[in-house]
Amino acid sequence: MAQILKGAEVVEALNKHIVSEAEQLMRRGVQPTLASVRVGERGDDISYERGAVKRAEKLGIAVRSIVLPEDTTTDHLIETIESLNIDRGVHGVLFFRPLPRHIDEDLVRNTLSPEKDIDGITDLSLAGVFANTPTGFPPCTAQACMEILKHFAVELKGKKTVVIGRSLVVGKPVSMLLLAEHATVTIAHSRTEDLPSIVREADIVIASVGQARMIDARYLSPGQVVIDVGINVTEAGSLVGDVDFEEAVEVVGALTPVPGGVGTVTTSVLIKHVVQAASKMTSL
Ligand code: NDP
Repeated sequence: MAQILKGAEVVEALNKHIVSEAEQLMRRGVQPTLASVRVGERGDDISYERGAVKRAEKLGIAVRSIVLPEDTTTDHLIETIESLNIDRGVHGVLFFRPLPRHIDEDLVRNTLSPEKDIDGITDLSLAGVFANTPTGFPPCTAQACMEILKHFAVELKGKKTVVIGRSLVVGKPVSMLLLAEHATVTIAHSRTEDLPSIVREADIVIASVGQARMIDARYLSPGQVVIDVGINVTEAGSLVGDVDFEEAVEVVGALTPVPGGVGTVTTSVLIKHVVQAASKMTSL
């Protein structure tokens, strides 16, 4: 039976660190503050927002929630973000995507100042991830994978790592973060030939495919560490990962569950980035 890499354990460790950093900032008169910007009333945005606000407030981070109507214009959203960029009382800005279709999302996301871009959505933040320089922050989900590997002391140096998925939110940035830790990284995608044999060869597997339970025993081999980023809803309404948990748990060395794995750590990483942003701004 594989070791289950529970997100809750990582969250607990991250939260301790966040609370102590936040307390230090408060002693210096700085209240770490997150601004969340939501356009419209999409159910998954609201539930993610609710989770993030609850977690932030519990850890002593203030939250300013800005809710704009569905028919908000690109110009108005840009003005909102520009005012948050210059607001010294706001340290991190989170906005929910996809934005409504009439909004120029690229223009809007790149308006955000990288110093406040706590979810790594701007081109400048991503450039920092690719160049391995401290411009902004990496996307939280990619960083959450790294926090899990670090917490459970998974050796990365020289290890064969296969990342399945090449999105800018997960696949590409996590590949760069792994490379920065000296892993030997293969990025697989929908055109990759003979994916099962490539994945079987890996020491570490990051599944960010968006296909429910696709990575089953045929892809896996003994001793592997598997990080399942996927969040998929089955027809029956249950939440499952990109990895077939029941099959994987019998084969690999360690794996993250869904729910209770990467997703739960992602929210804590978001809050950690707010505190880090506040520290950086305060020390300027
Ligand atoms: P995308 O749909 O943007 O990317 C999916 C990637 O998987 C693409 O690169 C695609 O390849 C590849 N892919 C799709 N089908 C296959 C296949 N059959 N074989 C090999 N590769 C395939 O998804 P995201 O990166 O945004 O998200 C990935 C998963 O992570 C989703 O389940 C999502 O819900 C979850 N997620 C979880 C988060 C968390 O906090 N835990 C946050 C964000 C996402 P190609 O490029 O060739 O199309």
